[in-house]
Amino acid sequence: LPRVLSGIQPTADSFHLGNYLGALKQWVALQDDHDAFYCVVDLHAITVEQDPATLRRRTLVSAAQLLALGVDPDRSALFVQSHVPEHAQLGWVLQCMTGFGEASRMTQFKDKSQRQGTTGTSVGLFTYPVLQAADILLYQAQRVPVGEDQRQHLELTRDLATRFNNRFGPTFTLPEAYIPPGAAKVLDLQMPDKKMSKSLPPAGCVNLLDDPKVTAKKIRSAVTDTGREVVADPAGKPGVTNLLTIHAALSGQTVPQLEEHFAGRGYGDLKKELAEVVTDALAPVQARTAELLADTAELERVLAAGAARAREVAAPTLAAVYDRVGFLPAG
Ligand code: ATP
Ligand code: MG
Repeated sequence: LPRVLSGIQPTADSFHLGNYLGALKQWVALQDDHDAFYCVVDLHAITVEQDPATLRRRTLVSAAQLLALGVDPDRSALFVQSHVPEHAQLGWVLQCMTGFGEASRMTQFKDKSQRQGTTGTSVGLFTYPVLQAADILLYQAQRVPVGEDQRQHLELTRDLATRFNNRFGPTFTLPEAYIPPGAAKVLDLQMPDKKMSKSLPPAGCVNLLDDPKVTAKKIRSAVTDTGREVVADPAGKPGVTNLLTIHAALSGQTVPQLEEHFAGRGYGDLKKELAEVVTDALAPVQARTAELLADTAELERVLAAGAARAREVAAPTLAAVYDRVGFLPAG
């Protein structure tokens, strides 16, 4: 089976619709015909300001949401990144093969470093795409289901793999980004020029675990565009287009079908119906997440088994890398 790897940061108390439609929906679907490795990337979460107790809670809540969304631990290895030390170890080797200018071109870094307030920007935030490359290459993954915002990081990963292979001999599989055609970039409801993000203000971000009333309010308050027709037009009507895209991805209808459905009706109708579509889709996920968090022993067992499986694949890759770069065997 082809191998797939992806990760998500435990940087909030809930994932959001962008995470789900851009990435996690594909995580679940790919399990059917792939050997899947999915991780909660806590090493990445400390690249920005964080609090230890909060991080611990969010890591568990993240794992619970992934299971609730349909990640199946019998078919996929679900694990926490810090439980597999090979990630940090390979990350270091790859950092030593990354150009400073190359890393400086990453647009996510430019965005996030601008937003880092009181503590300033860490070197870890700067090198995080290189650690992400290690996450992927350790598992020899062929496919990486991610949202559009990760395309540039996947290119960097491929460049680093190619560079290592050319210099030290064939070691890494070249991965491909697996980006969904529809909702690869869900936009913030308040700032439809930005992607929905865990690290932006909550008003424009529809969280999977939000109370249905909160969800309805966020959708009702979404910034729409001038005019009154419910039609998709990414340049002229980014807000309305975003709402239509979310509706289509969750309801299974196409955007043209929805345009016809809303012909002669206004933005208010679209928002009202979308709120129902979203809250209906999220209700079972919320219930299952709560169940899993009521007794975390089972969750911890799943994560331990996932880490053990991950290490079976990660350890031989790291051993080959250490040998090829010339590290003396530990004996
Ligand atoms: P943070 O703000 O902490 O970076 P995030 O919302 O960007 O959080 P990540 O954990 O960085 O979430 O990303 C997890 C996955 O979700 C990645 O595959 C990413 O491409 C995808 N993703 C994130 N935001 C969106 C979005 N708005 N639309 C589509 N996919 C998204
Ligand atoms: Mg992100």
